[in-house]
Amino acid sequence: MSGKTDYDVIIAGAGLAGMTSAAMAAKGGASVLLVDRNDEINVGKKTVWGWSCGDAVAASHIAFLEKHLNTKFDKPELDLKVDGVLALSPDLQAKYPFDGDGYSLDRPSFERKLLKLAKGYKIDYMHNFDVSGPVVEDGFVCGINGKDMDGKQVTFRSKIVIDALGVSTVIRRNLPENPFVDRSVDIDDIESTGRYIYSFELEREDEKYYDPKYALIHLNNDLAPGGYGWVFPKSGNRVNIGLGVQKRSLDIRNKKFGKNDNLQKLIDDYVKWIPIFKNLKLDEKDNNGKGIWSVPVRRQMESLVFNGYMGAGDSMTMPNPISAGGIGPALIAGILAGNVAAKAVHGGDVSVSGLWKYNLDFNVEYGSKMAGMEAFRIYLQSLSNEILNYGMKNFLTRKEASDLTVGLIPELSIADKAKLILKGMKNITAFSNLVFTVKKMKELNEVYMNYPKSAKDFAPFKTRVVHEIESIKERFPPASA
Ligand SMILES: Cc1cc2nc3c(=O)[nH]c(=O)nc-3n(C[C@H](O)[C@H](O)[C@H](O)COP(=O)(O)OP(=O)(O)OC[C@H]3O[C@@H](n4cnc5c(N)ncnc54)[C@H](O)[C@@H]3O)c2cc1C
Repeated sequence: MSGKTDYDVIIAGAGLAGMTSAAMAAKGGASVLLVDRNDEINVGKKTVWGWSCGDAVAASHIAFLEKHLNTKFDKPELDLKVDGVLALSPDLQAKYPFDGDGYSLDRPSFERKLLKLAKGYKIDYMHNFDVSGPVVEDGFVCGINGKDMDGKQVTFRSKIVIDALGVSTVIRRNLPENPFVDRSVDIDDIESTGRYIYSFELEREDEKYYDPKYALIHLNNDLAPGGYGWVFPKSGNRVNIGLGVQKRSLDIRNKKFGKNDNLQKLIDDYVKWIPIFKNLKLDEKDNNGKGIWSVPVRRQMESLVFNGYMGAGDSMTMPNPISAGGIGPALIAGILAGNVAAKAVHGGDVSVSGLWKYNLDFNVEYGSKMAGMEAFRIYLQSLSNEILNYGMKNFLTRKEASDLTVGLIPELSIADKAKLILKGMKNITAFSNLVFTVKKMKELNEVYMNYPKSAKDFAPFKTRVVHEIESIKERFPPASA
């Protein structure tokens, strides 16, 4: 550390989004301070539980990072290459492919490599620093407050603060009331989630439960209400097994079955439900074998900027609403935010207008389809196992389903599907609801294609998006299991 207390850009949180922002802002010529509460060896650890994550990331997102940071990733951080993701219906009879090829990361190694890269750009890095909130003066964020490793209260000042504190951010939550960035998030848009990393032996092969080439997702409202279970392969006969739930769906499911199961119980039941592993042993490398945490699964915050403030990653609810994949958007957002921050500092305008370009860049690079995907997620969470089983076999072709998961909209109409024999009223209603959802996805995509070019046009855009999503939530309450 240089002993300075004044910077161009302060980045709070040295996770994926924070370290990429730091590298890019410094590469663009800004003076940068990166702070995090972890010690250096544990860089990127989300909580005391470790680097809780399914570890799966699309190859295209790693390529984006490599291009912008002029680097190459390899083993050990890219632990295993996989051919894609497969989602299975509750009865395991239907399989939908989505996302292209990708990697299972070794997150501790990946984050250590990112820190080395960021430090290569001559940033100041302060570990063991606990951020308590933003410094706000005259309607501008202009620094952070927190405690250093000796427990001393410290204030650092800057022209811009980038909030990369993850889902529990104490910066966004403590912003002044403003029309751009909301301080709170609907609990129904948060998944409680956790996982184990195990080494294993196979009792027998069965690609419905484990596939060394694919990341498997099990949709099942009894096992994972309002979410899904996953079995993601790792190198050396290891596997990442986890599960996420929506709290409201879990409450409904518990009530239905007269149970009081919590997330941990569901994860443990899911591990037992998979019949093909034996000798499961917790992988204790980096003390990272077991962990739970939360993931936001809504569209990114409608604006990612405010005066003197930018946000990237989970702090801005960036994970994909359907898959909960947040590694890719955190990396992309970090790159884009750091780049715009450096330019805004040099241009001398760090107001919401001076930072607006980041909203536009993120929308083009990643964000424009997320509100539509959120609509689809809300629909999906309203379906019972019975309808999921029927629908995954009959409503969509594999191509249509795979398109939907990346926000591409298939042409669906009841008439087109007239050849379908929709058995029973429940299925007909579910199919017409799917047609409605797809129409809404299309509309939301169009709204985001016309993302406001400047801050002054933002208010009607936000009102429209919030209204659409609220009405979809009203129409599709969570399934009663
Ligand atoms: C169980 C689970 C499984 C997941 N599986 C996948 C998956 O397979 N694929 C995928 O793409 N995504 C997955 N995700 C989501 C993904 O892990 C996140 O989207 C990603 O880590 C977000 O990165 P980030 O940099 O925004 O935040 P984080 O990784 O959360 O980093 C935030 C950083 O801020 C620091 N910090 C927080 N508060 C403070 C404070 N007050 N003071 C100082 N420092 C602070 C933390 O120490 C941390 O270093 C999963 C998430 C969970 C919980």
